[in-house]
Amino acid sequence: GDDTMITKAISFVAKSLDPIIPVRANIGSLEDSIQAATTAANGVGLFRTELLYLSENTVPSRQKQTKAYTEILSAAPEGPIVVRTIDAGSDKPVPFLHMPHEENPALGIRGYRLITDHRDFLVDQLVSLEAARVASGREVWVMAPMIATAQEALDFAELARSSGSYKVGIMVETPSIAMALGDLSGKLDFISVGTNDLSQYLFAADRMNAGLGALLNPWQPALIRMLAKIAQDSEAAGVSSGVCGESASDPAFAVVLAGLGFKSVSASRSQVGAVRSALSSVTLEQAQQVAKVALSSNNAENCKAAVLDALAKIA
Ligand code: PEP
Ligand code: MG
Repeated sequence: GDDTMITKAISFVAKSLDPIIPVRANIGSLEDSIQAATTAANGVGLFRTELLYLSENTVPSRQKQTKAYTEILSAAPEGPIVVRTIDAGSDKPVPFLHMPHEENPALGIRGYRLITDHRDFLVDQLVSLEAARVASGREVWVMAPMIATAQEALDFAELARSSGSYKVGIMVETPSIAMALGDLSGKLDFISVGTNDLSQYLFAADRMNAGLGALLNPWQPALIRMLAKIAQDSEAAGVSSGVCGESASDPAFAVVLAGLGFKSVSASRSQVGAVRSALSSVTLEQAQQVAKVALSSNNAENCKAAVLDALAKIA
């Protein structure tokens, strides 16, 4: 009767509101976490822990870290929470680490490379995250930034697995690790692509230099082809792949990412709704067709225009 018709109609609407892959939120503070929980985000795809420490002059104790992480994890939107270990260096100096001046900081000691001089801090962070995971009862995934070789990924995985019971992964933001994903088979639970840095290192274009915006445009074909390889190689290695760089905050680009084979995206909070609705308005097969269109373009402008055109025909 009428009731079944209504139930059917409602379930159809509900289905069409489901994105083809989960859309998570990027956060960097307790305030961000609380705000992200007011969106429909499926958990957090990037918690930038270094943002808590940009003006800290003394090393935070394990106790202090555990308290801060527990509050942030507890407030986060429902779903897994991907926490990035400290990504200090380059554009993000952290006072208590007393990092030496470098001629080329983007190519220097940053992210996971800090393990050489600051192993104790990394261990403190991993142990504190485990305590916060237990205290909050949340599902936590932990990843290291700025990994360049498979050996670094394996070393990090070993250290992380000996420190806690979270899923363990790495960020893919250097071309060198993008070429080595096959070596990670069976060793990692996930990877997450940082397209901001991946673009910087792929195009040899400083991300802080406003004059290089054209090279850092995520619609550049070389970036999209590298992303296709990353999604394929991760799948072959049995490692779940996502994208957390700014590119995933562009709804049309997020459809391309889903079509390339990524299993999740993470967007800035203000873009979660728009990305969700784009990913709810296509099927996976349609997204794959759109990704094919993107892969066949030979410059950024044509690529974006062709994808928008393909999407308009679907809608
Ligand atoms: C990235 O590089 O794309 C990324 C997500 O990390 P961040 O912007 O913090 O370097
Ligand atoms: Mg980065």
